[in-house]
Amino acid sequence: MENVVILGTGVAGCTAAIYAARANLAPTLFSGEQDGGQLTLTTEVENFPGFPDGITGPKLVEACKKQAEKFGAKFKYDIATGFEEIESGFEISFVSGEKVQCRTLIVATGASARWLGIPSEEKYKGKGVTTCATCDGAFFKDKKVIVIGGGDSAMEEALFLTKFASSVTVIHRRDTLRASKIMQEKAKAHDKIAFIWDSAVEEIVGEKFVSGVKLKNLKTNDITDFACDGVFLAIGHIPNTKFAVGKLDLDDHGYLKADKNMHTNMKGVFAAGDVQDTRFRQAITAAGSGCMAAMEAEKYLSELGIE
Ligand code: NAP
Repeated sequence: MENVVILGTGVAGCTAAIYAARANLAPTLFSGEQDGGQLTLTTEVENFPGFPDGITGPKLVEACKKQAEKFGAKFKYDIATGFEEIESGFEISFVSGEKVQCRTLIVATGASARWLGIPSEEKYKGKGVTTCATCDGAFFKDKKVIVIGGGDSAMEEALFLTKFASSVTVIHRRDTLRASKIMQEKAKAHDKIAFIWDSAVEEIVGEKFVSGVKLKNLKTNDITDFACDGVFLAIGHIPNTKFAVGKLDLDDHGYLKADKNMHTNMKGVFAAGDVQDTRFRQAITAAGSGCMAAMEAEKYLSELGIE
């Protein structure tokens, strides 16, 4: 039986692994669908302390993994589908069919991109509709693209896309952005970026690939056609807690409920990172909560007499 299993290899999971491994608990991490978590899909991270010149998301997470491995953490690619309480711990089931038993479980499964949920979006997924500018931006060289959303992710994606696209139009459902001031200012100052306010994408149109969208002005209900080659969604995330439904306490939006010490409702199960964070959702807060979850797991194990 494993002492510590960590679900998720983003910055929260990796930080938990560094602490658990340094406490000689030989943790095993399981990647989930997005190995390395959301940082692998971002560009420059400018606000993680210790990197005055910034660092790319993939480089930061790779360094965290390497650091955890150095102390004996093991990384596996698999996706948890459920888990059961067993005597003295838990048994986790994975997509591969593997079952793993552990004494403590740290859930750091993060969150995945939210989609609009309109039928045409499904039709054009991978044919001009995407949630990842870092992954797909280069396919839109000299093309006209839109970014949907008004948060930091939308500004970041819009700015990144200016490297390739001929024009980037941000479509936001309100007339004020949710993004931080610095990101707003950067996006608003860029001559390739324009904004359409109070508007929602009603439908994505095209032949084989996207050729435009139908926009609804939410104040006047007017529908207009807007020609574009790419649709980038940046409308937030949904926590990855499917595997825990009916077992762990979740809030109304599916976020894992944890107390201030990262304990869930189940003894021996701890939470870390975006899966439990409805407020901050930063790389640094994810890392901090990963540290806390691992220290609490260590304390729990030592109370059971496992050092
Ligand atoms: P977010 O802050 O939740 O913003 C989501 C945006 O999408 C909001 O503007 C929201 O509109 C809009 N939206 C949500 N559902 C929608 C729908 N169905 N249709 C149309 N628009 C919809 O998410 P995020 O931008 O991904 O950021 C998440 C967290 O990560 C934040 O804490 C952010 O600060 C952080 N982050 C930081 C950086 C950075 O510092 N460089 C970069 C990326 C993300 P409303 O505003 O009307 O609600």
